[in-house]
Amino acid sequence: MEANYNIPYETLISEHDLQNRIKELGRQISTDYAGQDLLLLCILKGGVLFLTDLMRQLSIPHEIDFLAVSSYGKEVRESTGVVRILKDLDEPIAGRNVLIVEDIVDTGHTLTYITNILRARQPGSLKICTLLDKKERRQVNIPVDYIGFTIPDKFVFGYGLDLDEKLRNLPFIAVATQ
Ligand code: 5GP
Repeated sequence: MEANYNIPYETLISEHDLQNRIKELGRQISTDYAGQDLLLLCILKGGVLFLTDLMRQLSIPHEIDFLAVSSYGKEVRESTGVVRILKDLDEPIAGRNVLIVEDIVDTGHTLTYITNILRARQPGSLKICTLLDKKERRQVNIPVDYIGFTIPDKFVFGYGLDLDEKLRNLPFIAVATQ
């Protein structure tokens, strides 16, 4: 057990396992999009470490863009389904192959909202790649094309995911022990 910011936590997914799985995802995505245009669309802030590691495992040309949406407040850890765009994309996506890079799919409300907005902009294709999937928590059915790890219904942090805006820098996925 490790302690930081007075919160005891333990490793749920190690740095080694994360990096191995991201290598596999990178290979798969490189094969699937070979010879095609590819735009990785990172959802800030949680997806940022995953994006940068995934990019380094892609052997095909690609571009990146960022979308920031409001997430849970500091006190609330339950998705309301109401999401606000805080930072929109820099460029139009009409006709492009867009792959959303997300940290975690929980209830599915956030991605449902985001994909509805993006579909209206008529991308050539729109797929989702999430590092973590809390399948048992899903409230809306949203097809996820690439999944790093399916995890149990526990609040996790590290590797881009925050605990009250902290601990995003941990190189592994952690879970509180109390
Ligand atoms: P959904 O709308 O699918 O319920 O929630 C998705 C968003 O909720 C994620 O992008 C993430 O910001 C946040 N979230 C869901 N579960 C967790 C978790 O276990 N840890 C952290 N840090 N954020 C989470």
